[in-house]
Amino acid sequence: MALFCDVALAVPLDMVFTYAIPPGMEPAVGGRVLVPFRQQRLSGIVVELHDRPPQIKIKKVIEALDVAPVLDEQLLKLGKWIADYYLAPVGEVFRTMLPLSVEFKRSITYHITDEGRMALHLAGMSGSPARSKRTPEQQLIEFRVLDYLAERESVRERNLRTATQVSNALLSGMVRKKWIAREDVSAARDAARLAKVAVLRSMDMKVASISESNARVPSTSKFNNNQRTLLETLAAAGGRVPVEALRGLDVPRTTLGTLVRRGVIELVDEPQDFTASKLKPRQSPFEFEFSAAQENALAKIGDAVTSRKFAGLLLHGITGSGKTAVYLACMRQVLEQGRSSILLVPEIGLTPAVAADLHQVFGDEVAILHSGLSDGERAEQWHRIRRGEARVVAGTRSAVFAPVSDLALIIVDEEQDSSYKQEETPRYHARDVAVMRAKMAGAVVALGSATPSLESYYNAKKNKYALVELPDRVEKRPLPEVEIVDMRQEFQETGQEQVISRKLAEEIRERLEKREQVMVLLNRRGYSPVVLCRACGKTLQCKNCAVSMTHHKRERKMECHYCGHIERIPEKCAHCGSEYVYFVGTGSEKLEELLHGMFPQARIGRLDRDTVRGREDFEHALNALNEGALDMLVGTQMIAKGHDIHGVTLVGVVGADMALGLPDFRAAERTFQLLTQVAGRAGRGQYPGKVILQTYFQDHYAVQFAARHDFAGFYDKELQFRAWMHYPPYSAIANVLIRSEKLDEALTWSGELGRWFEKTRHEGIRVLGPAAAPIMRLKRDYRYHFILKSPSREKMNALLRAMLAEASARKIPRTQVIVDVDAVWLM
Ligand SMILES: [Zn+2]
Ligand SMILES: [Zn+2]
Repeated sequence: MALFCDVALAVPLDMVFTYAIPPGMEPAVGGRVLVPFRQQRLSGIVVELHDRPPQIKIKKVIEALDVAPVLDEQLLKLGKWIADYYLAPVGEVFRTMLPLSVEFKRSITYHITDEGRMALHLAGMSGSPARSKRTPEQQLIEFRVLDYLAERESVRERNLRTATQVSNALLSGMVRKKWIAREDVSAARDAARLAKVAVLRSMDMKVASISESNARVPSTSKFNNNQRTLLETLAAAGGRVPVEALRGLDVPRTTLGTLVRRGVIELVDEPQDFTASKLKPRQSPFEFEFSAAQENALAKIGDAVTSRKFAGLLLHGITGSGKTAVYLACMRQVLEQGRSSILLVPEIGLTPAVAADLHQVFGDEVAILHSGLSDGERAEQWHRIRRGEARVVAGTRSAVFAPVSDLALIIVDEEQDSSYKQEETPRYHARDVAVMRAKMAGAVVALGSATPSLESYYNAKKNKYALVELPDRVEKRPLPEVEIVDMRQEFQETGQEQVISRKLAEEIRERLEKREQVMVLLNRRGYSPVVLCRACGKTLQCKNCAVSMTHHKRERKMECHYCGHIERIPEKCAHCGSEYVYFVGTGSEKLEELLHGMFPQARIGRLDRDTVRGREDFEHALNALNEGALDMLVGTQMIAKGHDIHGVTLVGVVGADMALGLPDFRAAERTFQLLTQVAGRAGRGQYPGKVILQTYFQDHYAVQFAARHDFAGFYDKELQFRAWMHYPPYSAIANVLIRSEKLDEALTWSGELGRWFEKTRHEGIRVLGPAAAPIMRLKRDYRYHFILKSPSREKMNALLRAMLAEASARKIPRTQVIVDVDAVWLM
C-alpha cells in the first residue's frame, strides 16, 4: 500500500502535487482523486503512487473518485508526451483528454409538485396537516419549503437551504412524499438535447417504401385511418422521423402511443443534431465501384493494419477522388477484425451528411464527437467508447483522445487543416498527436488530403510515410479549367476598382442562363472591413484590439472579428469629429448585395459565420443548392470545404489572395490550399467545371501553381523557400508570446527575457525578437513575441524550458507567457 500519490491538477503550473493517502483508501494510477488545493477542492489524475516522504508538510486526499483508471497506461503516456513536447502543464493536458468535468458540476434543483401544492393548500385551510410524524417545528420548515417553491419554478439546492434552513433528511422525506421533486440539472439539460425518434420496426416496410414512391404498408387493413396516415408518413421518410415532426400531422397524439404499444413503432432517443438531418437519402459510399487507385489505397492501408506495426501513410487524393469511401472501407475492415479505429475531421468537415454516412455503415458501433455536444453528451459518448460499445469513433480534434482499446487505425482527413491545432493550452496539433498515439499503440495512421501540408508531404518524400496517390476524380471526371483574371489590368481598363471582373460577370450570366449553378468565394465576412475618415485618415479600431472594426450592414453594427466587441455605426470620425467617414472594402455580405444588383433574377444564398449559426443553417444552405433552390452561393472558406454539389459548374474566386499580404510564412501554403479546395467544388457532376480566379498577385507562384493544379510544382518551390528561410519542415519553430493588459509590463517582461536569451548560449537556435506581435493588441492584451527556429527540436525545447524557469524566477505569471510549439499562426 502506497503512502503518497503524485497528482496532476489542471492549474497553470508545470508540476505535479504530492498528497498523503489516508489508510484504507486505494487510488489508482490514471484514476481521479479529489484533493484540497489552496482554498478549493479539485479533481486531478494520479500519475504515481510511492512511499517517498516529501520535504514539506502535505495534505491528504479527500476521496478517490475512481477505483479503476480513467486514463489507461497508453493515454497517460501520451498525455505526458504532449506536456513535454508542447511545454504544457500536464494537469491541463489531462483535463483536455478527459471530457468528464461535468461529472463534478452537477447541480441539484427542486420544484413543487401538484401534491405539494395540495398539501400547502390544505395546511392553509386547517392550520396543520393531518397525521404527521414530524414535530411542529419540522412541519413549519416543510411548509416554509413548500411556500418558497410554490412561488418559483425551480430552485437550486444551495439556495433553497439558505432560504429555508431545511435539513437533508427533511428534504428527502418531502421527495418521498412526492410533495417536491428533485432534478439533476445537467442531466436534464442533456435529456433536452436528445430527440425522441419514431422508428418503423419492420425492415420490409422501409425497403418497400423507399423503392416505391407510393408507400406500401403491409396489411394496412389492421390499422385505422389515423394510424395509416402516420405509418405511411413514417415509411415515406425512410422509416425514421423525429416525433416532433410527426406532431405536424393531423392525427391525435394518442395514435403514436397505440402504435408503439402494438410494437409497430419504436421510440428511441437520439442526439438532436444529426437525426434532424433533412438530407435526402444518399447513395451509400459503397454503391460506387472502386477505382484501381482506390482499391490500391484500401489494400495498402489494410496490409499495414494487418501487420500490427506502426506505419504512417499519406493519402494524397485530388478533390473529388473518393477519399471518404476509402476511409469508410478501411474502417469497416478494422471493425470486422474486432479492432478499433478513429477518424479525425476538421471542425467544418463533420457535417450531418458525413454523420449519416457513418451511421449508415456502422450503425450503433460508431460514436460521433462534435462541437455541438453538451458536456454531458460528451461524457456519455466517452463512457460508451470506454466500455467497448463503440469501436468506431469519428470526431474533431479531441477525438484523438478517445479511449478505444486495441486501436488499429487513425485516419486524419484534410490533415493540413489549421483547426487541428488547439489555440489554447495545451496547444497540441491533433494530427501530430495522432501520429504519436499510433506509434505508441503499434497502429497505422493515415493522413488524407488533396493539399497535404508541407510537413507531411516532406515526411512522405523522406520515406517517413508511405505516399499513396489518388490521381483521378471518380468516374474520370476532369479537373476544372482555371482562368486567371489580373485585377490590376482590370482596374487600368475600367478606370475603377472592381469587385466582380467583367469576365466573371460574363461567365456567371452564361451559367445562370443555362440553369447551372455558381459559387463565389470571398474569404472575409461582413460588409466593409474598414471605416476610414477622409479628413484625418484614421480608421475605426477596436478598443480591445489593434485591428479595424468591420461594418455589418444588415445587423447595423460594427464588430471586431477578433474579440467580438460591438459598437454602433459611426456618424462622425471618433478622432476628429469629421462627418466624412467612408466604408472601404468588400466582405461577403456586400458581395452578396452586389451580385443581387447585377443578377436580380438569381436566387442567391450566403454561407459564412454570420449566416450560419449552427449545423442546421449550414446544411440548409447546402441542401438548397443541392436541390436547385439556389442559383448561386456566396461565402467565405466555408463554401470551399469538401461539399459535393453536382450542379456547380462555375466557381468565382474574389480576393482569395488577400492572405498573401500577411506577415506569415504559411501565407503561400494557405492560399494554395484554399484556391485548390474551392476550385475542387466545380464540375463534380456530369458537366465540366470552370474557375475564374481574380487576383492582384497573378505572378505569385501559389496562384500560378493552383491554377495549373500542379501540387508537386508548388511543393518544390515552397520547400526551397522554407529551406532558405529556416522554416518548417527544415526547422522546428516556436512562438513565445508575452502578454499583459499593461503595456509597460508587456514591454518590461519581454525586454527581460530578450536580454536573458541574448546572454544564454543556445547553439544552433535562432531567436528573433522581442518584437511587437503582428496584431500588437488583442483582447485587451499588449503582445510582444519571440520566434525560435532550431534544427534540433530537443535543444529548442530545452531552451524553452529554461526560459520558463527564468520567467518564473522573475515572477512573470505563467499565464502571461505563452509558448506555442509548432505554431500555426504567428499573428
Ligand atoms: Zn477623422
Ligand atoms: Zn477586438
